[in-house]
Amino acid sequence: MNNKKNVMVFVESRAGKIAEVSLELLGAARKLAGELGGAVEAVAIGYNLSDELAQLGHYGCQRVYYTDDKRLAFFSSVPYAKTVVSAIKAHKPGIVLFGATTMGRDVAPRVASALKCGLTADCTDLKIGEHQIKEKTYKNTLLQIRPAFGGNIVATIVSPESVPSMATVREGVMKMIDPDPKAKVEIINEACTVADEDFLTEVLEVITEEKAVNLKAAQIIVSAGMGASDPEAIELARTLAAALCGELGCSRPVVDSGILAKEHQVGQTGVTVRPNLYIACGISGQIQHRAGMSEAKRIIAINKDPNAPIFAIAHYGIVGDVKDVLSKMIKAYKKA
Ligand SMILES: Cc1cc2nc3c(=O)[nH]c(=O)nc-3n(C[C@H](O)[C@H](O)[C@H](O)COP(=O)(O)OP(=O)(O)OC[C@H]3O[C@@H](n4cnc5c(N)ncnc54)[C@H](O)[C@@H]3O)c2cc1C
Repeated sequence: MNNKKNVMVFVESRAGKIAEVSLELLGAARKLAGELGGAVEAVAIGYNLSDELAQLGHYGCQRVYYTDDKRLAFFSSVPYAKTVVSAIKAHKPGIVLFGATTMGRDVAPRVASALKCGLTADCTDLKIGEHQIKEKTYKNTLLQIRPAFGGNIVATIVSPESVPSMATVREGVMKMIDPDPKAKVEIINEACTVADEDFLTEVLEVITEEKAVNLKAAQIIVSAGMGASDPEAIELARTLAAALCGELGCSRPVVDSGILAKEHQVGQTGVTVRPNLYIACGISGQIQHRAGMSEAKRIIAINKDPNAPIFAIAHYGIVGDVKDVLSKMIKAYKKA
């Protein structure tokens, strides 16, 4: 069997629950493995996770290499990285994907460094394609696509001479496939080879805080840009969001100006969202903002400038003053 065609996903879990980003990555892995004619694999690390891992099959994973050890119940950089390195060395996949999360961003560079292979951070798309360097053509190589130079260009990065090709992908960027509850995953238990000395830290207590804003899960987002950033406009956007049972989002300068907290920010350096409805209020629609919301099913843009770039991707555009339009929308929705 040619393992190089296989695509492996690093599966994250916290408090015994698999992270959504890992399920999203399985969708991407399935597409890539499908093109290569390989299998979708995963590497999972933790303690007493076997029941939870069964759902990986529903999201397209064929087999998961699982290292179960009480010492691995909580994330620890060195032991986790060493375990992933062992799995890659043993099973030799051609591609490995990580979430661009705190955990993924910690583990992936350590793994890349140990294996001396390429790693592209924060990819927004992944494709299989051909790449030519001078006379040599690399076929079936991973094209790692991401914005570069402040989002002014979209770069395609390849690392065809080192195996595996590795990439991190931010939460919400890849679309999770519709789960198939009948699909099964083979769980292959791997021995833990990590020494006690590799555990450099000890977790004494875990304090969890509920997210006040959950943009990723919201079906409706009303988002305020600099054109809707005075207190009255923000309040109107917040009221409309509440009337629609949605969440309040915003553009980056609204966060940078201290008007809303970072957890509201949509975009390249904020949250990537795919709601059913995104209402962009006084947002110009620069590429870095669009990177986080262009996959919304319906986009309504409100802007006083008829030439604002946001109108190019909006399904419905309203040219007008944001406060006037929001007041009318609130009235209409409340009445309905
Ligand atoms: C590396 C990098 C990462 C970035 N990441 C992000 C990111 O994650 N998210 C993000 O959003 N940005 C990000 N940016 C910033 C991005 O480039 C833009 O500067 C930003 O999105 C602009 O925000 P805005 O549309 O709210 O403001 P502006 O560009 O100032 O636009 C304001 C809009 O409001 C309209 N307007 C003004 N008054 C009214 C009114 N009364 N009624 C109606 N419309 C009105 C104007 O016509 C204008 O179109 C990033 C930039 C860089 C370099």
